[in-house]
Amino acid sequence: MKLIFEKSIPGRHTDFLPALDVPEVSEDFARRIEPLRLPELSEVQIDRHYTELAGRTRGVNGGFYPLGSCTMKYNPALNERVASLPGFTDIHPLQDDADVQGCLEVMKKTEEYLAEITGMDAVSLQPAAGAHGEFTGLLLIRAYHRSRGDEGRTKIIVPDSAHGTNPASAVMAGFEVVNIPSDAQGYVDLAALKAAVGPDTAGLMLTNPNTVGLFDPNIEEITRIVHEAGGLNYYDGANLNAVMGIVRPGDMGFDVVHVNLHKTFSTPHGGGGPGSGPSGCKAFLAPFLPGLRVTDEDGTLHSGKADNSIGDMRSFRGNFLVIVKALAYILSIGREGVKETAENAVLNANYMMRRLSDVFDMAYDSTCMHEFVMTLERLKDETGVSALDFAKALTDCGIHPPTMYFPLIVHEALMVEPTETEPKETLDAAVEIFRKVMEEAYEKPEEMHLKPLTTVIRRPDEVKAARKPVVRYDYPGSV
Ligand SMILES: *Cc1c(COP(=O)(O)O)cnc(C)c1O
Repeated sequence: MKLIFEKSIPGRHTDFLPALDVPEVSEDFARRIEPLRLPELSEVQIDRHYTELAGRTRGVNGGFYPLGSCTMKYNPALNERVASLPGFTDIHPLQDDADVQGCLEVMKKTEEYLAEITGMDAVSLQPAAGAHGEFTGLLLIRAYHRSRGDEGRTKIIVPDSAHGTNPASAVMAGFEVVNIPSDAQGYVDLAALKAAVGPDTAGLMLTNPNTVGLFDPNIEEITRIVHEAGGLNYYDGANLNAVMGIVRPGDMGFDVVHVNLHKTFSTPHGGGGPGSGPSGCKAFLAPFLPGLRVTDEDGTLHSGKADNSIGDMRSFRGNFLVIVKALAYILSIGREGVKETAENAVLNANYMMRRLSDVFDMAYDSTCMHEFVMTLERLKDETGVSALDFAKALTDCGIHPPTMYFPLIVHEALMVEPTETEPKETLDAAVEIFRKVMEEAYEKPEEMHLKPLTTVIRRPDEVKAARKPVVRYDYPGSV
């Protein structure tokens, strides 16, 4: 397929703009040496170009997308529509509070709903991603200990079933990471936790449900152990899709949490679009929250910094339109809908897991939450077919691969997250495909290394694609 620049024909254009009805002024542009290098195409050519591009992309709108740990659910078009209303899109971040009362109300309401859903007292909408929310939460923990003169608390405990961003965020926030193992069932090893806590413990970061899709049954015991040692508890709430409306981190002993609006609350995850990872906390941490806080003074909304704010985590007020979508989503599904979402996410995952477990080895033999992990180690040993080969074969059948080789504690892992928005028919069809590919893997293992055969690109160099993407068009003659 040609790039849009290669399709360009000089002089071709689209009449989007009305005819000029004011005097032409050109001196401002006198400093431009060459004309702007934009592709020149007619409207139908542009339309076909993007339609062709869309056809080459695999997305939730095109088929089943069970990418574990990512919550690739269908996001209702209604929420996009609400976020595209001019009252939301045409504002400027430097406008006076008095001019944007409605937008401030959107922020305040979203904060309140997220606080209620997570069991926290205050929420900052400023962080732009999940990991960014973690970093923010850890800075809150650091600010808290410092404010009490408790400088010796330098360590954050992170179980090995945590999402990879947890230890990374802890290091970025200046902490030392203490890793603790999981027990055979995939839960936090309580003896290891007890041995790890002490006067140097700043806190614990718990991903729950964890990266193997399990809810830790000892969660209250875990948070109690950390609190008794003087540490704070951080809840990685990126997997909130499994538990929202049913249990709340704030009720289980957590002091700080982040949630991923671009997973749970109706913004697509992945694809490089804007995200949002709000940070919530208990009241005693609220004075440290970042960014501008919205307060209500006699019915008028005002913005101001918290007393001991850690500062700004990004420009202005976060990704506002993502926040609008989250509020539209929460309001449209309602209190019962929040709970039903989690229930159906868990039901769908358990349904698929059970329907596959006679043929596939599940990494853990228990009821899962919103996702489950299988290990293809036996297949690899017996046939040489790897989890990667298996995932590639699924793409030939119209299924986006599950997450591969993650979590790291499971070998030849495939992590499947069906999400609540998939109907039973899709799950049944997927189950049949998984089983058929497994049969093929045993019958013709050599052929599995060649898959996929039907996609636009077969096996790209994934490291190169991630590390050295080519995102710039080299014009002939450009430097
Ligand atoms: C996705 C995810 C994150 C990180 O979120 P980003 O927005 O990608 O930074 C953190 N923790 C868990 C459990 C996740 O699933």
